[in-house]
This record gives sequence, C-alpha cells and structure tokens, in this order.
Amino acid sequence: MTNISSKILTALPSSVNDALKRVIEHKKSFKCYIVGGVARDLLLGREIFDVDITVEGDAVEFAGILETKNEAKIVQTQPELRTAKLKFKNGAEIDFASTRTEAYPKKGHLPVPVKIGCPLEEDVKRRDFTVNALAASLNEEDFGEIRDFTGGREDLEKKQLRILHKASFIDDPTRIIRGLKFSVRFDFELEPETRTLQDEYLNNPNADISYSRLKSELMQAFSLPYPEVWKKFTEQNIFTLINKDFKSEINADKAFSLIKKYKPANQWLFWLAPVFIGSKTLDLMNFTREEKKIITDLEKILNSTPQQNSNLGIYKFFNGIEKEAVLGYYLFTNQHFALDFLDNLAEIRLQITGEDIKKAGMPPSSIYNEIFDAILEEKLSGNLCSREDELDFLKFLIKELKK
Ligand code: ATP
Repeated sequence: MTNISSKILTALPSSVNDALKRVIEHKKSFKCYIVGGVARDLLLGREIFDVDITVEGDAVEFAGILETKNEAKIVQTQPELRTAKLKFKNGAEIDFASTRTEAYPKKGHLPVPVKIGCPLEEDVKRRDFTVNALAASLNEEDFGEIRDFTGGREDLEKKQLRILHKASFIDDPTRIIRGLKFSVRFDFELEPETRTLQDEYLNNPNADISYSRLKSELMQAFSLPYPEVWKKFTEQNIFTLINKDFKSEINADKAFSLIKKYKPANQWLFWLAPVFIGSKTLDLMNFTREEKKIITDLEKILNSTPQQNSNLGIYKFFNGIEKEAVLGYYLFTNQHFALDFLDNLAEIRLQITGEDIKKAGMPPSSIYNEIFDAILEEKLSGNLCSREDELDFLKFLIKELKK
C-alpha cells in the first residue's frame, strides 16, 4: 500500500498537523483526509500551494472542537455544505469540508448536496476523474496511506483520465474542459471509454448548462502556457460546447508564438474569441465589458477592409481595438500590418488639442479633423517627436491653409 506521509508532512504546516493529531486522537469518531487534486499532486510530486481537508462527518462540528480546544479559530462557515475555514496559531488558514454525496436534478447545472457526512467512499464517487478521487489519510493509525476506491492510482500510472460513471459528462459537461486542462497539464490521455462518452456528448450537447462554470474552466484551460490546449480542443471537437459551426483555421504554434511575444492580458480570449463570434453562447457567458469587446472587436475588423496604403489608415483601423483582437486578425488574415501596428504605432498619441489649434488662430470648424489627421500622419511617420514639433507643424499647416 502506498504511503505518502513524508510528502504530507512537507505540504501541511507542522502546527496544523499537530493540532489535527491532538483532536483526532481525542475524538476518534472523526476521520480526516486530503482528497482530490491535492492527493493527486502529492502522488505526482508536484508543488502544493493550498491544502484543504475533508472530514468524514460534519466539518463544522469538527472545527468547533478545534476552536474549543484553542487549537484554531473559525474564520467562516458555510452552513449548507457544512464547510469551515479555520485559522491556526501559525497563521495558516485551512478549509475543512464535510464528506458529501451530490445529485444533478438539472443536468449541466450546479449539483445539490444529498447526504452530508457520508462515508469517504461515497464522497469520492461524486468526483470528476479517478485521479481526482484519491484520498490520503491524516489519521494516526494509517497516516499518509492512500485510499483508492476507484482505481485512480493505476490511472495515474497509466497517465490516463477516466470518468467515474457513464452519465458524468451529461451531469456536468464542464468536466470535458477540466479533462482538457488536466490532459495538457499532466500530459495525460483520455481513457478510451471516457473518450467515447465525451464524443457521444459532444455529438449532442445540452444547450441549457451553467455557462458561468464553463467560462471559469475555459479560462483556466486556455491560460495554460501550451498550444496543445487549442490542438486538443479542436481535434476532439470540444468547441461544439460553445459553437458547433466553428471551423478552425488557426495554427496553434503560430498563435502561441504571438502570445509569447505580445503577452495579451486575456490570453484565454485571444484563443477563444474566434469561437465565440456568431455563437448563441455569447450572451450567456457573463462576460465583462472588456471581454465582450475583444470578441466584438475581432468580429468588426474581420468584416472590414483597412486602408493599408498609409500609416494613418492602419492606425485608424486598429486604434481602440483590443490587442487580443488585433492579434486574432493577424492570425486569420496573415496581414503583417496588424503586427506593424502593435510594434510601431499602437502607443502613439497626439499631444496637441483643439485648444492649441484655436490659439494658433484657427476658429473651430470641421477642418480641425483634417488638421489632426495631417499632424497624426506626420507623427506616425516618425517626423514629430515632441509637443513642440507638433505645434511647429501645426503653425506650418495653418499658414498653408490660409494661403
Ligand atoms: P487544479 O489543480 O486545477 O486546482 P484540482 O482538481 O486540484 O484542480 P479544484 O478544481 O479545486 O482542484 O477541485 C478540487 C477537487 O474537487 C477535484 O480534484 C475533484 O475531485 C473535485 N471537482 C472539482 N470540480 C469538479 C467537477 N466539475 N465535477 C466533479 N468533481 C469536481
């Protein structure tokens, strides 16, 4: 039997460990475990940032005992799911969750808890993949021992992702994106039957699902620094969750080299904006204004024709357009002037204002726009460096106009 006690002792602050030991010893009816992603990552030897603990029983009651014994303070509780956040003496804050089973009364939406405080074996069966259903004991008699009820150890060794039951993707299709994320992050493959069930779901996806959960998983998957996310997303037709009519024309390696060079703030939307164009899901995703603008910007410029014969034409075409959309335009059209814009023109702004034109002796009129354009064009060509240069050029222009 595998024992990862030394790994747990490194990951969990010693004061937390000691406090848990004292309480579990005293209250033998409570059993504590590390369950899910953390157990998986400990077995994989990956770095752990945040440990949470599952209590077989009622975590809020367990937290109360820790508090009474002056081992930790309860910072927050969630009465419905019976979870508690505890602050230990060394300052460590740890979430404690009660074991639970869940049901999906509305497929594709949030599950509801059914039985809180159930045996660990029942709790792990609500999880997404067998490798995320592993648990490690924190109890004295078998500290560090792995509890594997679903064959997760073997799947971890085979580097494969296997769902726990046939209706798993129907219950929660965001698991498809989670599978994509884990398969790229760990270089795992979907186990063949899981792949078949994923294909079956994607052939006939449910449109009435929780898009905010889908969005959160998409953000995580497409923020990973690997082009393979896009490759698998298209090869496995996962895009049908967002837009079944999408046709991919994107070279993932080329796209990834743009990310490395231009570092768009919303990397995930740089990848996905083309998929959202024309998609019915666009209004369901809870996009922020900025996120939505990336998509509408891309759609707008892909449907317009720039005047490429001058810097001014290129500048006006892309000015105000989000960087992710400019990069997307380049990917689709191969028009190098999009990158020229980002490299040389995007940051350029005029320093003079209408007030300066007025002071130079020109009363306000529509001619101001022509003047601004003429000065901007000169500036975009690199001929005006300072505000003084702009003012000199303005005087020259007004003289010419008054001739
Ligand atoms: P990551 O490493 O990206 O944080 P994780 O698996 O460690 O992934 P969470 O997304 O926080 O972390 O999930 C914690 C655990 O909860 C998972 O390991 C899994 O057991 C379970 N879980 C999370 N999301 C789902 C889901 N959609 N369906 C079933 N189980 C889930």
